[in-house]
Amino acid sequence: MTTKTYTLEELQKTNPVFGQQSFDNHEQIVFCHDKESGLKAIIGIHDTTLGPALGGTRMWNYQSEWEALNDVLRLSRGMTYKSAISGLDLGGGKAVIIGDSKKDKTPEMIKAFAKYVDSLSGRYITAEDVGSTTEDMDLIHTITKHVTGISKELGGSGNPSPVTAYGVFMGLKAAANYKYGSDNLEGKKVFVQGIGNVGETLVKHLTENGAIVTITDINKEKLEEVAKKYNAKIYTGNDLYAEEMDIYAPCALGATINDDTVNKIKAGVIAGAANNQLAVENVHGKILKDRGIVYAPDFLINAGGIINVFGEIVNYGQDEALKRTENIYNTALEVLHHAKEKNITPQHAAMQKAEERINKKKKENK
Ligand code: NAD
Repeated sequence: MTTKTYTLEELQKTNPVFGQQSFDNHEQIVFCHDKESGLKAIIGIHDTTLGPALGGTRMWNYQSEWEALNDVLRLSRGMTYKSAISGLDLGGGKAVIIGDSKKDKTPEMIKAFAKYVDSLSGRYITAEDVGSTTEDMDLIHTITKHVTGISKELGGSGNPSPVTAYGVFMGLKAAANYKYGSDNLEGKKVFVQGIGNVGETLVKHLTENGAIVTITDINKEKLEEVAKKYNAKIYTGNDLYAEEMDIYAPCALGATINDDTVNKIKAGVIAGAANNQLAVENVHGKILKDRGIVYAPDFLINAGGIINVFGEIVNYGQDEALKRTENIYNTALEVLHHAKEKNITPQHAAMQKAEERINKKKKENK
């Protein structure tokens, strides 16, 4: 990793933390370093108005520390909106660990991270994300109680991904209903980008409901496995965005709707699990709107996982979590209709709905 060295004068101009575009009034950012285990992590606490900041820990091989900081800021902000619009008494937070989860992760590193989580005394509660597993959460649980997504054997709710996938499926159906006048997916061409924990289960729901599913992933083995299991097609072209399709479901990483892709996209609906799909919310969200492409806000439709882990805090089981997750269908339809009525983007409409709840609570707290 290359890290640029700044002079004090340059640093003052750069405003690397408070001046970041993604900073958006975060309450607290914690930089965690443990020399012995090699841990380098950042915890972002965006807003705790509605409750403790809950959000997963992403371990990713970031190209630079700036990229990691920007990612955690964007992700923790997204969590604030996600919990607020889902009616959960939770704030928004997220953590990133810098490194390759397949090569660099060690139990010592995860335990060192857990100590940092514990030091925040419950202001931040962690869970799984890309690059972290239920086993990691179980290990964190040996150090701190401020962790969710622990295994069922330890009294937790287990891997949240199947519930996330169910919620994405509900949101995707709502967006299809809005765009095509029916949520029947029979014969609809759907491209799923990323067939990991969430993407694979989404493929299952889609194929069971008659959609014609094409999949893409950088993991070739997994592609073969999922294609065979669910009778999905493997994408062999070199420009997914320009393909003819009804629905594009981004389920890998964020910012795939950007300057390079936004004008090529031929799908009528975009609905997927990835966080922060719009590289720049108001720019790319607006272009989609102008092009008549229905975008189902990511933080709304991928909330199944957080709805599931919230059950560990307030004591509800998976049946209740699934019932609440099913409601994503109604909320997504409501948001899409509201956006049309007000002539704003669905992202904007969903954010307004979340902010209304936060602002109401702020007033009550005064
Ligand atoms: P995962 O790591 O299990 O799966 C991601 C998949 O995307 C992997 O198979 C990976 O190989 C693939 N991938 C990475 N880069 C790619 C690329 N350029 N093109 C195609 N495929 C690529 O992660 P997950 O848990 O399935 O989560 C997927 C997305 O959904 C992430 O953005 C995550 O933040 C978001 N999300 C997940 C949950 C959850 O409950 N797991 C909840 C909310 C949001």
